[in-house]
Amino acid sequence: MPSSQQPTNGAEPAEQYDAIVIGAGVSGLYQLYRLRELGLSVRCYEDGSGVGGTWYWNRYPGCRFDSESEAYGYSWSEELLQEWDWKEHYSGQPENEKYLNYVADKFDLRKDIQFNARVESAVYNEETDRWEIALENGQRAQAQFLIAAVGLLSARYTPPFEGIESFRGESFHTSRWPKEKVDFAGKRVAVIGTGATAVQLIPEIAPEVGHLTVFQRTPNYCAPCRNSEVTPEEQRQWKASYPEIHRQIRETTVGLRHEFDPRKTFDVPQEERLAFYEELWTKPGFTKWLSNFHDIMTDLDANEDFSEFVRNKIRARVKDPVVAEKLVPKDHPFGSKRIPLETNYYEAYNRDNVALVDVREAPIESITPNGVKTTEQEYAFDVIIYATGFDAVTGALTRIDIRGQGGQTIKDKWAAGPRNYLGLQSAGFPNFFMAINSAFCNYTVCAESIVEWITDCIRHMRDKGFRRIAPKPQVEDAWMAYINKVAAGSIFTQAKSAWFMGTNIPGKPRAVLLNPLPALAYRAKCAEAAAKGYADFVLQ
Ligand code: NAP
Repeated sequence: MPSSQQPTNGAEPAEQYDAIVIGAGVSGLYQLYRLRELGLSVRCYEDGSGVGGTWYWNRYPGCRFDSESEAYGYSWSEELLQEWDWKEHYSGQPENEKYLNYVADKFDLRKDIQFNARVESAVYNEETDRWEIALENGQRAQAQFLIAAVGLLSARYTPPFEGIESFRGESFHTSRWPKEKVDFAGKRVAVIGTGATAVQLIPEIAPEVGHLTVFQRTPNYCAPCRNSEVTPEEQRQWKASYPEIHRQIRETTVGLRHEFDPRKTFDVPQEERLAFYEELWTKPGFTKWLSNFHDIMTDLDANEDFSEFVRNKIRARVKDPVVAEKLVPKDHPFGSKRIPLETNYYEAYNRDNVALVDVREAPIESITPNGVKTTEQEYAFDVIIYATGFDAVTGALTRIDIRGQGGQTIKDKWAAGPRNYLGLQSAGFPNFFMAINSAFCNYTVCAESIVEWITDCIRHMRDKGFRRIAPKPQVEDAWMAYINKVAAGSIFTQAKSAWFMGTNIPGKPRAVLLNPLPALAYRAKCAEAAAKGYADFVLQ
């Protein structure tokens, strides 16, 4: 049981822990497990009423993994690996949520999680070297270590359209989808946005709705997911070879069961190249991206060769050539944004009950009581779905009033973009860790390594009797300069509107939010920082 510290003003005493974890998603659950294993008293606060994070909130129809199921599950418990059967190769949200609930039950994690608990502020006390968090309901708790496992895509973004509150029908953001089934039968439905989320949602609801209007600003390069059920034989093979699967995903560039082809695009004759593209296209998942010629990620001419191949694939699937051309991306290179994986997405536009509105031609002016008004006309709807994405990476942190040394807020420090070392800590915020997988990789592989790094660091501090740790400011500066240099040389900075550069949100400073280092290189940097005895950090 936690101890309590009696306040002098008659308020409820603050509960005392060794560590506080914010968020019970993939990272938070594992962080709780590992710190508890270390012998710490830990409390996890979760905004939702259940575990799962992304897989709790994003329950819109069609939501599923874009990583292979066998590569996404936690790797740290052989027993868990043997007990859990993935039903599909790209598992759907209901099953993923079930999986994380199974994990929470199996390892008895729930007893240390408080649900419906939104953390509003976190303040560092320089005298005690402890953090005090306050929940929305006024409850307070203190701990030496504070770990924000708040997810990189959890702060939902809804454009501030004029009149948004006036709409008389139902409206939903995809990342706050209701638990009850939404009835679309016969309804006039709008979907705003065509990112990975909308691409999964649209073909699921198109057959059910009366009429669907999709408001698109930027088309994406979507690639066939080619999902299928896992056969008993595949299940048996996975279970027999998990150590090998995990070794493989720890050794590949981005932590998935794909590796870039070492050949250069234009070293391969055109006919052979096209045959290679065609073969990649028949394969499931990210094969077409992450097993492609490696230089599509660095050489814009090489990239254009494959981009045009994909554009033609889109043109071939959409019957109306005018609609097809609107769906073809032309303003950014293939792979400069995460590739949405789709099932029957383009075919949805061949249906009589689906229309595409290009909001670059006619931007949305306002939401009215009846529907959506563009500069050209007003459309009437019963339901509006905002698939408009997230205030990524920084949003979930800056929405909490986090105050470090000298009362500095993380919001002020990050006014021009995030400043951190290895994405793990920020100078001036001692004992505050970010268990947010912000590297370019398979989620779970990176999440596990980040959680393990934080756990090892805390173990080191306790073993050596240190009370506080924070990165040296000059080390942080050098890291940020390095990250920016790596990003500048990659195609990630080429997309005009991309959440990982913050450019999807008007007014958000353009900054590198997603670590451009591939998983393998990023993990090596983290391991090096620990192996140096945390010399890049001020330890006191
Ligand atoms: P997103 O990629 O940021 O897409 C948001 C969409 O809303 C974009 O099409 C955007 O247009 C549009 N939009 C924003 N403001 C608008 C406005 N004022 N008017 C019209 N359109 C507007 O968000 P997302 O689709 O939720 O995906 C975010 C990320 O989540 C993905 O990149 C992926 O990493 C992850 N995700 C993963 C999976 C999975 O398979 N596991 C599934 C879904 C999402 P612009 O492009 O022009 O800004």
